[in-house]
Amino acid sequence: MKVTFAHMGNLWITVKTILEDLGVEVVVPPRPSRRSLEVGVRHSPEFACFPLKMNIGDYIGAIERGADTIVMVGGVGPCRLGHYAQVQAEILRDLGYRAEMVILEPPRGHFSALLDKIRYLTGGKPISRVVRALRFGWEKLYALDCLDRALVRTRPLEAVPGGAAAAHRRAVAAVAGAAGVEATRRARDEGVAAVLAAGGAGAAWEDDGEAGGGLPGRNGTPLRVGIVGEIFMVAEPFANQDLERRLGEMGVEVTRALYVSDWVRINLLLDTLRLRRRSRQSVVKEAASPYLGHFVGGEGLESVGETVLYSRQGYDGVIHVAPFTCMPEIVATSLLPEVGRDLDLPVMSLFLDEHSGEAGLATRLEAFVDLLARRRARAGAGRATR
Ligand code: SF4
Repeated sequence: MKVTFAHMGNLWITVKTILEDLGVEVVVPPRPSRRSLEVGVRHSPEFACFPLKMNIGDYIGAIERGADTIVMVGGVGPCRLGHYAQVQAEILRDLGYRAEMVILEPPRGHFSALLDKIRYLTGGKPISRVVRALRFGWEKLYALDCLDRALVRTRPLEAVPGGAAAAHRRAVAAVAGAAGVEATRRARDEGVAAVLAAGGAGAAWEDDGEAGGGLPGRNGTPLRVGIVGEIFMVAEPFANQDLERRLGEMGVEVTRALYVSDWVRINLLLDTLRLRRRSRQSVVKEAASPYLGHFVGGEGLESVGETVLYSRQGYDGVIHVAPFTCMPEIVATSLLPEVGRDLDLPVMSLFLDEHSGEAGLATRLEAFVDLLARRRARAGAGRATR
């Protein structure tokens, strides 16, 4: 069995770690590119979700490298994620690919079904081995998210352009190569320190264990923008056209509402232990409630709630990023203008797909950042004359 999966940011490092720790042969697909996107678009229904098209490109790239089994995370709820895996399986079958699809559903209180699938993939390894591998993978996932948080905080301050990104690349490679939990933690701490040093920020690491948490603020000097939206589009730089890098290079400090480790903590750990309602999710839900009172699938509810929370935290603006035709995010985008008006917070929605051009995105970002800078300057002038 040669197992593969779709890309989403650096998640491949975590999945590869878990599977290889369990003795499974892994085939990592080529990084998403124009070519893999073209392949995915060519073989997917026109109005399929953009992430589905990108996944198809990844799977075909991996099958061409020898993969025969595909692992994907399933989903529930009112959006198309519920039948995503079946559609992908049929597309590949119609194309003549014989890869087996193993769907890992979020356990929602029934962890045994998930463990059974993992044991199938690993040839019946004992639960203790599976749990050990998951714990190792979790350390890597968390470390990678810490590095990403440090990078977006540091980028607008870096002394040498590209210095923070270079330190981040080295740190990611060190985490990827770390041979155990302790080595991963060391690589994480050293990597975060190196990324921060590239910015000359001198900030100490402080993790509050929640989405949007991480490093302490620095008097709010750079413009601060929160990113909300559908998790794949937020986490995969190729899909969002390197949104965080573009904003960082414009001198903007970015905070992502949801990192993949947050998603895992909420949907796998807290849900299984029935603690979801006590987590930050309840805070997000409460914040969204004047505008949206129920789950609409994907991250639609979170996009609204996190935007309200960014306003309470004094952010300069929010960028909402989503795949074209994404139903939960269409609900969110119909509400966000009202949220922005009520809270006097600029919010820009970006719906992206294979037709989105780079020049158009760059122009919209420049205009948005310019607006934020002028608002900040006006607010400063107002304070000075009082
Ligand atoms: S959340 Fe949006 S992009 Fe993802 S499966 Fe649902 S509709 Fe598609």
